[in-house]
Amino acid sequence: MRWGTVALWQGRWPGYGVAVGSVAIAAALRNALDPLLGDRGPFILFFPAVVAAAGVGGIGPGLVATVLASGIGWAMAGGPAPLLLSHGLLFLVSALGVVGLAVLLERWRLRAITSETASESAAREAERVASELALLIDGATNYAIYMLDTAGRVTIWNDGAQRIKGWTEREVLGRHFSIFYPSDEVAASKPDADLARAVLEGRVEEESWRVRKDGTEFLASVTITALSDPQGRHVGFGKVVRDVTDQRAAEAVIEASERQLRSILATVPDAMIVIDDTGIISSFSATAEQLFGWDEAEVIGKKIELLMPQPDRDRHDSYLARYLATGERRIVGTTRRVIGARKDGSTFPLELSIGEAIGGGQRMFTGFIRDLSEKEAAEERVRSLQSELTHASRLTAMGTMASTLAHELNQPIAAVANYVEASRDLLDGFDDDTVALLREALGEAASEAFRAGNIVRRLRAFVARGEVEKAVEPLVDLAREAAILGFAGAAERGVATGIAIDEDVGAVLVDRVQIQQVLVNLMRNAIEAMTPGGGGTLQVRGRSEGALAHLVVADSGPGLAPDVAGRLFEAFATTKREGMGLGLSICRTIVEAHGGRIWAGAGADGGTEFHFTLPKANMEDDDGR
Ligand code: ADP
Repeated sequence: MRWGTVALWQGRWPGYGVAVGSVAIAAALRNALDPLLGDRGPFILFFPAVVAAAGVGGIGPGLVATVLASGIGWAMAGGPAPLLLSHGLLFLVSALGVVGLAVLLERWRLRAITSETASESAAREAERVASELALLIDGATNYAIYMLDTAGRVTIWNDGAQRIKGWTEREVLGRHFSIFYPSDEVAASKPDADLARAVLEGRVEEESWRVRKDGTEFLASVTITALSDPQGRHVGFGKVVRDVTDQRAAEAVIEASERQLRSILATVPDAMIVIDDTGIISSFSATAEQLFGWDEAEVIGKKIELLMPQPDRDRHDSYLARYLATGERRIVGTTRRVIGARKDGSTFPLELSIGEAIGGGQRMFTGFIRDLSEKEAAEERVRSLQSELTHASRLTAMGTMASTLAHELNQPIAAVANYVEASRDLLDGFDDDTVALLREALGEAASEAFRAGNIVRRLRAFVARGEVEKAVEPLVDLAREAAILGFAGAAERGVATGIAIDEDVGAVLVDRVQIQQVLVNLMRNAIEAMTPGGGGTLQVRGRSEGALAHLVVADSGPGLAPDVAGRLFEAFATTKREGMGLGLSICRTIVEAHGGRIWAGAGADGGTEFHFTLPKANMEDDDGR
């Protein structure tokens, strides 16, 4: 458009020149021919000048030429005025007609120029778009973009197609696209079937194996689009192919590691729960399901507070908000004991470790949860066992002291009674009031001494019989329970421990706590006898011997010190600086009170073996037969 305007103006100035020039020439010619023409045709010669000016310069020069010519013609003309006026008017009308024609011509010329320019720029625009499209298609190097004609022959091929498939444009143009399929699919006519499907459905999308020029295969994501012209006639196919082999391989790796992680998480004893930063549960492991009694599907999307008893349930939101606001770590990154709530409302102690992760711009918290109920119950059991044993041990120690005292007092008391009786007998034959009183007093003293002796005897009998509460106890369980206390600290001292009780021993009829006290005492003695860190073994064995169970506590220690070996089971026999020397005498009292026997000897491998027997529980008797 601009271009046209400039050209017009450029053409207009010469137009005015032509107007002035041609009018001047016409005037000169008129002047020269005046003798010939006289007053005929006063304007005739000016007409070509107007035509020339309007033809070259258009409306402006045309009008200028008309005005000039009219004026000069009028001035030069002679003759009668009416004739001159009619000639003048005729000239003016004709000249204006010529100018009008010139205007029309100019318009047509302008229109022609404009339409020529428009079609030229449309062609240029189309060319530009085509070249940009070609660039775009070739730039998509990760995509093979190509076109097929209706028969499936390649018509357009981009750089990406060459890169992915290995064929150059020259090699592949005109070839049937079945060369990209594996041979078995070609044999099964899949290429043609794909095209037929694309025609039918408009587009086919699939992921399948394709072949490169060198024969190697790759996993391709393929789109085939049926193309139609504006009249709806089918003209061919557009194909976009992407090599997704690496992507799928990477996905497979991620999937495998995810599966591995899941399997690890499924097997770790800890329950795992993942929540987002608003406390919404997004993952709930199988162990968590067992622990809390909720199914994963029931809790996903719910708030974590569901798993907490009061007051934590109401406060958790504020804990979370405070952490997010201040970053102050109270629970995150630490392990602490808290109370959890099961689906049935019951509560249990748990150990909670929370980790924080930010992935994909999202903050997540992962909680690892270990159920402490069993551990705490076991600790409680050990504590109560310990206190039971301490209590029993104190009682038995008192019993043993009583027994020892009774034993020691019995003889002097008996001797006193005898002496008193003998003294009283010596008074026989003396008959005197004083002597009678003396005899009476000695008689009383003797009977009091006998009474004291009886009390002591009864005490011994009581201690020997013991206040035992016997029950049927499986020996394996009893020994294992005793080992919780008895073996404590053995591993730290490098002592290997073991329990081997024959199955046929079955149960024994005993006071569980007292027999465990015997076992614990023998085990502790064995561990104390072995040098710390020097290795060694401690074995508890049990076998059946007729109606008795025979237990052995064997160690690989230094053996018995000769000075205590002979009086091990006596009270106050000890080689230890802090020792009481009561342990083994208590053991003997207990074992004998159960109708068993206890003794010690050298072990097979140089250490010491303590043996004791206990009556087996006769199940048939228990059944009342
Ligand atoms: P205490 O342990 O207080 O000394 P005990 O009656 O339990 O009292 O033990 C008496 C003594 O028997 C111990 O001081 C120790 O010399 C000896 N003894 C007990 N068990 C063993 C053992 N397994 N190996 C070597 N000596 C032992």
